[in-house]
Amino acid sequence: MIQLKNLSKIFRTELIETHALRSIELQVKEGEFVALTGPSGSGKSTLLNVLGTLEHFDEGDYLLDGQSVKGLSDSALSKLRNEKIGFIFQGFNLIKDYSLQDNIELPLRYRGIAASERKRRAEQALELVGLAARRDYHPSQLSGGQQQRVAIARAIAGQPRILLADEPTGNLDSLMARQVMELLEKINQDGCTILMVTHDPDQARRAGRQVQIVDGQLSDAAMYDPLAVKRA
Ligand code: ADP
Ligand code: MG
Repeated sequence: MIQLKNLSKIFRTELIETHALRSIELQVKEGEFVALTGPSGSGKSTLLNVLGTLEHFDEGDYLLDGQSVKGLSDSALSKLRNEKIGFIFQGFNLIKDYSLQDNIELPLRYRGIAASERKRRAEQALELVGLAARRDYHPSQLSGGQQQRVAIARAIAGQPRILLADEPTGNLDSLMARQVMELLEKINQDGCTILMVTHDPDQARRAGRQVQIVDGQLSDAAMYDPLAVKRA
């Protein structure tokens, strides 16, 4: 489903060049749950952003369902992104003044999905994350773990085939983190391919596969080294 071939990404500013991704080779099959680990600044978020087509790359290629994303127009990229990819970020990015229901419907509205379908999908997604009874609440009325579950609901309401999650449990205590992890496992069992950045060795072990990135280079992390995270 995902194929990265010799992919490199360089951030250039006036003063410095940062080789954020170096000759990345990665294949992810449909239905996999991949945990991405590595020290801070090693390129994890950049890799997710490239996979999500939010960030361009400099060299190599990225094939999504066998099709190269290179050379696609911005509108073709955003169509691809909307149809196939869901994002979960660490900071939730929920809109304060909107109800949970409206937060989840908003990206669907951008995509021109009809009101009745939006409502149905949002309700279904809230049901899945256990917050159906609170659909008229606002984000400030929820705990951090509940807000993260809303962010997950928003992502899955788009019916993505790939879910990209950047430290989805980073702000949560261990109980809430476990609940969010269980939810992601359930979504994965329903067929969604997941790539998740995590600093938690237990979570990484629970994923189907671990890959590690250090200084922009990828390696299979058969042995996870928590000290690498502590040092960072
Ligand atoms: P991680 O998520 O693993 O902490 P990042 O992918 O955010 O790491 O960053 C990888 C490297 O790229 C870091 O050196 C970071 O400073 C740099 N970087 C990330 N985003 C930008 C940007 N927009 N402009 C310049 N440098 C960036
Ligand atoms: Mg990051």
